[in-house]
Amino acid sequence: TFDVSAPWLNRVIERKPRALLHAVDGVGFTIERGKTLALVGESGCGKSTVARLLVGLYEPTRGGLTFDGQDAHAAFKGKDARAMRRRIQMIFQDPYASLNPRWLVEDIIGEPLREHGLITDAAQLKKRVGELLQSVGLSPLDMAKYPHQFSGGQRQRISIARALATEPEFLVCDEPTSALDVSVQAQVLNIMKDLQRQRQLTYLFISHNLAVVRHVSDQVGVMYLGRLVELADKKVLFENPRHPYTRMLLDAIPKMHDTGRARTPVQGEVPNPLNPPPGCAFNPRCPYANDRCRTERPQLIDDGGTRVACHGVQEKRIPLVELAV
Ligand code: SF4
Ligand code: MG
Repeated sequence: TFDVSAPWLNRVIERKPRALLHAVDGVGFTIERGKTLALVGESGCGKSTVARLLVGLYEPTRGGLTFDGQDAHAAFKGKDARAMRRRIQMIFQDPYASLNPRWLVEDIIGEPLREHGLITDAAQLKKRVGELLQSVGLSPLDMAKYPHQFSGGQRQRISIARALATEPEFLVCDEPTSALDVSVQAQVLNIMKDLQRQRQLTYLFISHNLAVVRHVSDQVGVMYLGRLVELADKKVLFENPRHPYTRMLLDAIPKMHDTGRARTPVQGEVPNPLNPPPGCAFNPRCPYANDRCRTERPQLIDDGGTRVACHGVQEKRIPLVELAV
């Protein structure tokens, strides 16, 4: 079997000069080959930090990361580093920033092929770049253009084609459609789903948008201030959300068939992730908070198939709500 797991129950800290930038703690999950795990949460919750850990850009200070049975962080540093970078690719939010504006598309997509020594012959390279463009619904003729000649959605397809060049097994997608118009988002998401089916790709999909997550994921992890607070199969999470924060996020999205109920905006401010409140970090915003919540940090515990970090859920004092969806 193939899995990607990040079973670190620990603290990951990225230090940059003068500032402590990122903290992720108590995050652990497994993604099966060919499936999508989505991580959701408001900005600053640590989603992108997890993404960067998975592609080896950050290193955990404790804990570990297993990729297909292999210690990924050891592999990122050792003689297997090149192979790991081939197998795990990342797609970023902003295709404007991630595509070199002075390069032709041919060179942008061809670069990983050259860098990894996969194709050196010029004619073969063109052929392969053409195939990659076709796989994302673009024309081989597009290779002779520059990024500014494309729309935002087309540019994101070019980044996907580039990410696919090394035939990766695992794609970490950090808000890949957030910069795009809603109609274009759906096109790009559908292409990603088709590619997943055709190539048995495994995705970690980062998004703040639950409507997008619902469209693409198999499992969903909800993050709050650097911690995973709920982890469940998509259907279970959307139909029976357990954590008060997950419910708050779900209440804030427009319903497909609006029942006339006013949607509730997400309440309150996200505290500073570097100085989270004691106990459950969500307690200042939670209608169910009690003294225990303000002092003791809840652990992520399995509760009928959903993993949830909430004293209220564990004490069964939060009403079970089946959302009409
Ligand atoms: Fe609310 Fe307490 Fe659960 Fe935190 S642990 S979400 S404060 S009920
Ligand atoms: Mg981010």
